[in-house]
Amino acid sequence: MWSRVRNCSGLRRPHVMRQEEAVEVLKQVGAFQTGHFVFSSGLHSSIYVEKFRILERPLYAERLCRELAERFSNEGVSCVAGPTMGGIIVAYEVARHLPGARAIFAERDGDGREFRRGFAISPGERVLVVEDVITTGGSARQVIDAVERHGGVVVGVGALVDRSGGAVSFPFRFEPIVRLSLEAYDPSQCPLCKSGVPLEHPGSSPVPHTGASPKVREAVMS
Ligand SMILES: [Zn+2]
Repeated sequence: MWSRVRNCSGLRRPHVMRQEEAVEVLKQVGAFQTGHFVFSSGLHSSIYVEKFRILERPLYAERLCRELAERFSNEGVSCVAGPTMGGIIVAYEVARHLPGARAIFAERDGDGREFRRGFAISPGERVLVVEDVITTGGSARQVIDAVERHGGVVVGVGALVDRSGGAVSFPFRFEPIVRLSLEAYDPSQCPLCKSGVPLEHPGSSPVPHTGASPKVREAVMS
């Protein structure tokens, strides 16, 4: 289908980022990490996709997010919404490629998510929900709920990576750039737990540092 898409100069669209190429980018930047991880969903896995290895590099984040924007360019999207933290960057970067669209984010609020910071959605507004990495789809569903509570119309869900192997679906058009099938276990079924491998909390854990004591570091930060 993309071979028919032409830009305004009438030339064939120069490039489409395919799955293999996106996976290669993820590998190059070190986004795939191995160990014994527990996700925010509670599931365990031996592989963690650290989205911030992509999101810290605007060159790559821009390419992936532009691809998402182009897939939804005919949907009349005027607002792109994502969950904190990574979804803030994804929403902003996708919106940048959808003329006139705003980028907003939903923060944790009890068991769900809510828009704060004065973010508003007009009744009937067409909203694209985006996420960085989909594991269970829980965060994206919380954003969808928040959009619908505010009267918005969800036109679809876009993600950089769906690691669920197709287990996650939404009652909307769902467009992940990369589809992976990476095992994720309920803790009671986790072979790494059975083997006694130490559990890591990826993502928000502080990076170990050497040298300065916590007190010195705190002073430097403040
Ligand atoms: Zn485990």
